[in-house]
Amino acid sequence: HAKRNRNEYQSYKPEMNQEAYDRLRLESDLRQGLEQEQFTLAYQPLVNLSSGKIVGVEALVRWQHPQRGLLPPGEFIPLTEDNGLILPLGEWVLRAACKQNKAWQDAGLPPMIMAVNLSMRQFRQHKLADRIKSILEQTGMTPEYLELEITESMTSDFEAASEILSELKAIGVQISIDDFGTGYSSLGNLKKFPVDKLKIDRSFVTDITKDGSDAAIVTTITSMARHLNLKVTAEGVETDEQIRLLREGNCEEAQGFYFSKPIPGNMFENWYRHRCQS
Ligand code: C2E
Ligand code: CA
Ligand code: CA
Ligand code: CA
Repeated sequence: HAKRNRNEYQSYKPEMNQEAYDRLRLESDLRQGLEQEQFTLAYQPLVNLSSGKIVGVEALVRWQHPQRGLLPPGEFIPLTEDNGLILPLGEWVLRAACKQNKAWQDAGLPPMIMAVNLSMRQFRQHKLADRIKSILEQTGMTPEYLELEITESMTSDFEAASEILSELKAIGVQISIDDFGTGYSSLGNLKKFPVDKLKIDRSFVTDITKDGSDAAIVTTITSMARHLNLKVTAEGVETDEQIRLLREGNCEEAQGFYFSKPIPGNMFENWYRHRCQS
């Protein structure tokens, strides 16, 4: 019998509801978007709170959709995680971020961390470390400056996560735990994993000046990180007051609209040069 054609599978059937149709449409747009490189990265600085220096950036993906305009990751990442397109998209993100890092180096900026988000499916991808290693080699990026952000849920299978993390550490990259505090990771496991940094979730940072228990959570995570010899970054910092409290609590790094929203690479370079002159 004849092989089923891909387009046939994606065609509209009257019995489908609108939601299913929208999903199929988005999925086919995503495939096209990948082929046509409609994705871009926005960069948000990571700032050291004692020196005020920019230590790096986090790369955040956006989709320049031909009809719908610039879409934030929340509108398409979940679907790519369901249908597996996160694998090619994630690989594109890694390569683009490493290329940008190398380009900034070549343009004379000091060495900077490039933090990249990994999804669960990527984390579990066969030979992930080898793939990343070859991207590093192809782009000429220094492994020590690539920081991979994973979430607590990816570490729930202790054996599997340990193995993947050791393979990643073996190629020389840094590992951070994103949205820390929102998952249920075992603190006992945390000290056994070869991770380098905890990123305190924005939900605890937002009300740090108003809510005593949020302030206590942030202080506790910060001091725990210090005892475990991990770096710590506060996410979603927007005000002077938050910065002041974080400094008092010896939090070493912060990220948030207070410093800059995520912006395109060329804008970041200008922003960086301007900030370092003033
Ligand atoms: P995330 O990794 O926790 O990234 C931080 C998010 O918080 C970003 O949203 C950023 O714009 C936003 N943010 C940063 N500072 C502030 C602040 O001061 N106030 C507020 N209100 N928000 C702030 P964005 O870019 O929409 O990304 C959302 C999520 O999408 C990310 O959360 C991450 O989980 C995911 N994501 C983004 N890029 C990628 C990617 O390349 N791969 C994967 N797998 N996921 C990605
Ligand atoms: Ca992140
Ligand atoms: Ca986060
Ligand atoms: Ca988040």
